[in-house]
This record gives sequence, structure tokens and C-alpha cells, in this order.
Amino acid sequence: MTDVNAARVQETYRFRHMATVRHFLRANVRPGDLLLVALLALPVILAWPRLGILDPADSAAVLRWTARVSGIAAMICMILAALLSARLPGVDRWFGGLPRIWGWHRALGYWAFVLTMMHVLAIAFAGVAGSPEQAVATLFPGAGGHAIWAGWAAWLLMLAFVWPTFGLPRPPAYQRWKRLHLLSAPMLILALAHVLWLTPPGAVWWALGGAGLLAIGWRKVLAPRVARHEHRVVSVTPLTDDVVEIALRPRGAPVRFRPGQFVYLTPFDEDLAAGRGEEHPYTIASAPGDPLLRIGIKNLGDASGALQTVSVGSSAAIEGPYGCFFQRHHPGRGQLWFGGGIGITPFVAGARALADEALATTGDIRLFYLADRPERAYYLEELQRLAATSPGLEVTPHYFRSHGAITGGFLQQHCGDFASREIYICGPQAMRNYLLDLLRRHGVPGYRIHTEAFDFL
Ligand SMILES: Cc1cc2nc3c(=O)[nH]c(=O)nc-3n(C[C@H](O)[C@H](O)[C@H](O)COP(=O)(O)OP(=O)(O)OC[C@H]3O[C@@H](n4cnc5c(N)ncnc54)[C@H](O)[C@@H]3O)c2cc1C
Repeated sequence: MTDVNAARVQETYRFRHMATVRHFLRANVRPGDLLLVALLALPVILAWPRLGILDPADSAAVLRWTARVSGIAAMICMILAALLSARLPGVDRWFGGLPRIWGWHRALGYWAFVLTMMHVLAIAFAGVAGSPEQAVATLFPGAGGHAIWAGWAAWLLMLAFVWPTFGLPRPPAYQRWKRLHLLSAPMLILALAHVLWLTPPGAVWWALGGAGLLAIGWRKVLAPRVARHEHRVVSVTPLTDDVVEIALRPRGAPVRFRPGQFVYLTPFDEDLAAGRGEEHPYTIASAPGDPLLRIGIKNLGDASGALQTVSVGSSAAIEGPYGCFFQRHHPGRGQLWFGGGIGITPFVAGARALADEALATTGDIRLFYLADRPERAYYLEELQRLAATSPGLEVTPHYFRSHGAITGGFLQQHCGDFASREIYICGPQAMRNYLLDLLRRHGVPGYRIHTEAFDFL
């Protein structure tokens, strides 16, 4: 090979390699992730000069150093977890959607717990390296040790609400688990008091700690009063034995949203058997131009079961919208949608938007509706009607009971270029996993597949 050819091959390889890295970053890293990582590192970087030079031969000093660093890291994890719980509409898009934010929130909570344990153990072992009496005196000071007692109280509160998150002794009911989470506010205050008493007052801790507390205050006190839009239930249409579509009319300005987004719905119907005043996430099934907000609700538990018979005329609050399922749209490339079970709702919104003349876009969309059997394919008739009048939309039902699991052959038969499309999947986890595996086996790169989960907790 000549030098010129070798250079060209190398250059091509470099470009391909760079393109793969770029695609990987585009699919997996969002601006919010970078911001979080920077905030995670900030307090440790600022504290670094005060941590001193580490002498590996001095085990007590290493333990004291570990205790300080793990303490700082645990504190920043707690604060960031609190900040992420604010659930400000729009902010979730920086992270690629609310489910990714909850993923971060959970990871930060987990690491706050582990680092706090490390912090306590490192202090204990550092004390034992001197004498057991010293260890006991450091960990359990007399009445004057406010800072240490505040730390212990924070730790106990953390244990109380983090333990059930690990499913121990068994997963708690969702609403009970949510109420237990309220302990995070006093825990954060006590942990901050512990830090501020022990370290020279730093503007960074005040600012970050204050922001964390504001976030909790916003979510628990302010948002229910100022961020919710009042609506009235105007119709409840049964779609099958365990799914209804509820239409709501806004009492004030309508919620502005895009297809694929979801809202938190809080019903106030006095006659509801369960879930009155509880907020639950539901995808908007209407087109943005529809004066009514429509939501398809499947009976999956107490609250969603009770909503099957919510009273027409009753009030409900809507908060949001959240999510960015379709916003990773790449114009110019055809789309392939897979909706399974109640996971069909974002595609119903998408199809209704396509048919809405005011929004009409020329799409090139193939929708596969995966249902167990024809009676479970609610919305199918309407989707087929919409496809008949929207030139860019084609709908193909697939019934598990008669066809078995969907195969590459079935896809090929109904959508020859399926592997080169931008792909959107919403449905139960088993379906998502199966499709991800199938598509990857047909060479579809991960960055072209977008999924939405209804079971992210
Ligand atoms: C982004 C998103 C969009 C959704 N869209 C729809 C939709 O269009 N139609 C539909 O029927 N269902 C949708 N769901 C599911 C719906 O939120 C749950 O079925 C409902 O919250 C169940 O509540 P429950 O009290 O009836 O059941 P429970 O028995 O209390 O809960 C069953 C499961 O639902 C989840 N869940 C319950 N409450 C919440 C909550 N407040 N926040 C998050 N998850 C919760 C938990 O995983 C829980 O284990 C969506 C969920 C998410 C996350």
C-alpha cells in the first residue's frame, strides 16, 4: 500500500471512529448530565487545598481524609438529588426526559447513602487507630457536640426513607414510599447543619444547600398551588374493559405540549374509590390543536382503576408537560413507531397531530401496533381511519396470540426499509427489551432507537 493510500485508510478509520464516538455521545450524554457532573465535582475541587497532602503510610490520616472526602461527596449527592426532584417543566429536556432525571435522582440517593456509610465508618476506624475510647468520643460526643448529633439525626432519617427504596424488607406501596420521602427535607436541613457547623462557612454550601431546600419546597408546597392547571372532566369513553379515554377541558389557558409528552393528573372527584388528590403521570393522547386534553388510562392499580369511572363534571389538576419522546426527531429520515398495550398513547397523539390540518406535516411513518389479540387493540380503528386520510402514515397491527412474537421477517414484509428508520418504542418492558434485541440483531444502531417507559419507578 502506498503512503497516500495508507494515510487515506487511516483517515477514513479515524472519521468512522469519531462518528461512532459522536453517535454514542449524542445517544447517551445530555447537557444536563454534564452540568450535574460539574456540580458533583465542584465542592471536592474547592475543598481540595484544605484536604492536605495525603501520606499513604499514615493510616489514620488516610482514614480522616477518606471521611472528609466521602462526607463532602455524600452531601453534594444529597443536594443534587433534592434539586432534581423539583420537576420543573422543560428542565427534564436537558436530561433527555423525566425518566432519566429519576434515574439520576435514584443513583445520587444511592451514592449519598453509600458515601455517608463510608464517612461514618472512616471516622470510626480513624478514631480506633488512636484508641477505642477516642473513637467513641468522636462519634458520640457529649451534649455540646451539636454538629455530630445533627449528622447522626440526618443519617437516621436517611435510613428511614432510603431503606424501603431498596425494596427491604419488601417494596412499599408507591404512595407510602412517596410520603416517606418527605423525610428528605429534615434530613437535608440536618445534614447541612452538620456540614456548616464543622467547616468554615462557605458560600458554595449555602448556595447549593439553599437551592436543594428550595427545590423540595417548590415540589411539595408551591408547585401544587401554582404549577397546576385546573381542568374539568367532560367525558369518559370506555375503549375496552379496562381502558378509558378521559377528555378534560381547561378552566384557564390550555397546556401547551407536543405529541409524546406527558402530564401529571390529580383528580379531585369526591366519589373516586381511590387516588383522590394523588398525582399520576399520563401521556397526552390528543393533538396539540385539540381544545380538549385527552388521556387514555388503563386500569393498572388502585388510582388508575378508580379513574375508569371518574365523574363527568368533576375537577382535575394537570401539571406539565414533561418529556421529549419525539423531540429527537431527525427530519429527512422515515420513522418507525412500535406501540404496545397502553404504550400506544404517544403514537395516538402523534397520529392525531399528523391528521390535524393546522399541524399537518408530511411524515413517512410506519406504526406497528402490538397487541395480544384484536379486542386488545383499542384505538386501532381510529388509527386506521387517520392513516387513510394522512398520506404519510401507515398502521399495521400485530397480534401476539395469532402471529407469535414479531419477527424481522414480519417487519421486512410490512416495512422493507425498517432498519434504516428512526425508531420509537413505547410499551411494557418485556416488549421493549425484545424489540431492542431484535432491532440490534438487524443492525439498527442504538442511537436511532428511542424508548419511553411507563414503569420507570
Ligand atoms: C411517563 C409516563 C407516562 C404514562 N402514561 C400513561 C398513559 O398514557 N396511560 C396509562 O394508563 N398509564 C400511563 N402511565 C402509567 C401510570 O402512571 C400508572 O399506571 C399509574 O400511575 C398507576 O397508579 P395506580 O395507583 O393505579 O397503581 P399503583 O399500584 O399505585 O402503581 C402501579 C405502578 O405504577 C407506577 N406509578 C404509580 N404511581 C406513580 C407516580 N405517581 N409516578 C410514576 N409512576 C407511578 C409505579 O411503577 C407503580 O409500581 C404512564 C407512566 C409514566 C411514567
